[in-house]
Amino acid sequence: MAERNEVDWVSRFADEVIAEAERRGSGKPIVCASGLSPSGPIHLGNLREVMTPHLVADEIRRRGYDCVHLLSWDDYDRFRKVPAGVDPSWAEHIGKPLTTVPAPTGSPYATWAEHFKAPMVAAMKELGIEVHGISQTERYTSGAYRDQILLAMRERGRIDAVLGRYRTKAKPGAVARQGADEEAALAAAEGSGAATEDDGATAAGYFPYKPYCSFCDKDTTTVTSYDDETTELSYVCAEGHAETVRLSEHNRGKLVWKVDWPMRWAYEGVVFEPSGVDHSSPGSSFVVGGQLVREVFGQDPPIGPMYAFVGISGMAKMSSSRGAVPTPADALEIMEAPVLRWLYARRRPNQSFKIAFDQEIYRLYDEWDTLGRKIGDGSAPPADVAAFGRASRTATGELPVTPRPVPYRTLASIVDVTTGHEEQILRILRDLDPADPVSALAEVRPRLDRAQAWVETKMDADQRTQVREEPDTALLAGLGDTERNMLRLLLEGLDAHWSLEGLTELVYGVPKLQQGLTLDASPTPEIKVAQRTFFALLYHLLVGRDTGPRLPTLLLAVGAARIRKLLSA
Ligand SMILES: [Zn+2]
Repeated sequence: MAERNEVDWVSRFADEVIAEAERRGSGKPIVCASGLSPSGPIHLGNLREVMTPHLVADEIRRRGYDCVHLLSWDDYDRFRKVPAGVDPSWAEHIGKPLTTVPAPTGSPYATWAEHFKAPMVAAMKELGIEVHGISQTERYTSGAYRDQILLAMRERGRIDAVLGRYRTKAKPGAVARQGADEEAALAAAEGSGAATEDDGATAAGYFPYKPYCSFCDKDTTTVTSYDDETTELSYVCAEGHAETVRLSEHNRGKLVWKVDWPMRWAYEGVVFEPSGVDHSSPGSSFVVGGQLVREVFGQDPPIGPMYAFVGISGMAKMSSSRGAVPTPADALEIMEAPVLRWLYARRRPNQSFKIAFDQEIYRLYDEWDTLGRKIGDGSAPPADVAAFGRASRTATGELPVTPRPVPYRTLASIVDVTTGHEEQILRILRDLDPADPVSALAEVRPRLDRAQAWVETKMDADQRTQVREEPDTALLAGLGDTERNMLRLLLEGLDAHWSLEGLTELVYGVPKLQQGLTLDASPTPEIKVAQRTFFALLYHLLVGRDTGPRLPTLLLAVGAARIRKLLSA
């Protein structure tokens, strides 16, 4: 038994996986696995399928064990339906393997599968997720699984019996058993595996293998007979083709999903593979697979925690503006890789959470920066230290971080007010802290670029700040003596307080000065009311609204000359 090191959920699973691998004693690298279907865009929600084993495999590597993270691409699955926005003539390819369907029009990739794999591969690279990718098309068409396929066909009676135990236990509403030519009515699973596939029952008996038709390349086939002695398999397809092949040499077909998955566990020696809630219910492919891998393929199932749903906040805006569910690449446009990793590292797989695409991202970054400071001064709890470490580095090395972690909300405000003008951004950043000025934009990158992307693509148009070109003369003319005096006090104090900290003291302090107190006096309830009124006045005069970016940031962004122009009564 490995030494217990229960700092966080990742450590606990690493302990279990190492212990299980040692019990199995294969002498080979420890195998953690994920599966993804490139049937369409790989959504941000599917990232947990990869991130969970990644974190566990990475912890195992950090402990000095040889560990491989296999990513099985289910690219030999059938093309199920033509998504909205794709040329309807692609319907002619329904039923073919994803690797023989042409990519959508305009794609630089040849096949449907390659087109949808590529962005995920790029996102994983940026996230520091190292996987050994396996194309199921390559595996099946090379004959790699021949022995396992022949075994499954020999044992088809036993497989049918195992599946039968669960068919009767299927949940109300679930489809208990399907004819070979029918599509199961279950909702399509987003993650690994073709959850909607039939399980291999036909009028001629049960067959766990389904050929792709040699003539039309589609899987609308029905096995009509199989001879265990000769391995001769006969099938007909929905378009009327018929053929007899020898399964001992035929490489165009695959095991049905519920048999395919446990077969791969055995073939690869998988010790850890999580699955989404849709695969973990009673009668689900994970549960049935656990029986089949033992009873047919002679191996134990992997340790396989269920992982919960990951949502997106700000989704409504996303879908209206982009017409699509966000992908990991979309998340990496607005947040740095370590922050995205951190969301997964800090929560157990069975906890659901949301990824912020809306203004919640400000708070997320504040929490991240606070944790960074606590780690710096040694006050963070061990589990938080572990999560931060898993987020910011892998066994291979550090992920890129922003040297100067200026708050994301500050960067977003600066980008907003300057409309992304680099010289102005740098001027404001220099002024934030004159004692230790930012000297180049590189110091605040890549965070600045993420904040810029967020402002440009996610910020509501009605939240964008537009600094007034000309003073609001009507408003200025109507001001009373108190307000005029406060504006005068602010303008007089600008030069001496030209930093983020200084301007913060000044804007909060002007109402105090107005009431005969000092700048650093403790605010009374009356002062607080006066501050709110003063701030609203400043927003109206500067940006023509009740609210806006934090005032000190806004003042730095607007610049002293323009402030004087807009606030002089
Ligand atoms: Zn055919």
